[in-house]
Amino acid sequence: MPDGAPAHTVSDLRRDLAAAYRLIALEGMDDSIYTHISARLPDGPGGAKRFLLNPYGLRFDEVTAANLVTVDETGAVIDDPHGAGVNAAGFTIHSAVHMARHDAVCVLHNHTVAGVAVSSVKEGLLPLNQWSAQFHDRIAFHDYEGIALDLEERARIVSDLGSKQIMFLRNHGTLVLGRSVAEAVKYALNLERSCQAQIAALGMGLTPIVLDDAVAEHTARQYEAGYDPFELGGKPDPEWAAMLRRLDKLQPDYLT
Ligand SMILES: [Zn+2]
Repeated sequence: MPDGAPAHTVSDLRRDLAAAYRLIALEGMDDSIYTHISARLPDGPGGAKRFLLNPYGLRFDEVTAANLVTVDETGAVIDDPHGAGVNAAGFTIHSAVHMARHDAVCVLHNHTVAGVAVSSVKEGLLPLNQWSAQFHDRIAFHDYEGIALDLEERARIVSDLGSKQIMFLRNHGTLVLGRSVAEAVKYALNLERSCQAQIAALGMGLTPIVLDDAVAEHTARQYEAGYDPFELGGKPDPEWAAMLRRLDKLQPDYLT
């Protein structure tokens, strides 16, 4: 049974990334065959860059540890067990982020209704609750320019992201970087709950209580202190282990 220990091998990384696709689908956060979750593999011979990505045309609930495709930084296929290739255009944002941010093992992009909605208002995410306070002053923004395919926009995305791990792609969706696949999934789930809670709170027509900066910053640092032992100390993550057990019970074929 997985103990939630950080991925140290390629097979661990394939397990964790397949699990990420399944968990995002279980939460209703997928968008047909679009958006991606990518993971950085250890460099290949000669320092070659290698990434894992979902096979083109599969739903998130069809991704398995074995059918993940290995691509280089241009999206060119290195290994493709499923044989359908990848959506190379959709990998362009991920590639740019991975090449600029070597601290990120996982880059997770979503188009959820709540995430797109909050990305589409000037105020963005407000510190209205414990979930959203963890992201206080930790969110980058990138203005919408059309479907992000060209090289010049990729440079602007990387510049706008800076050193942050969370970015709202305005009028488009959300982007999350994780020091592990587990961290990216946890951030994405909490960001989604934050957006849903904000929409619910502001939709009541009553007076929202926005946390002040000091309390929100204190909360964000508490979250970081909670995550760091898993990412920096190699401590097994019981929350990730619990998420994997959910899949063991509901969708054990993610490991096939
Ligand atoms: Zn997108």
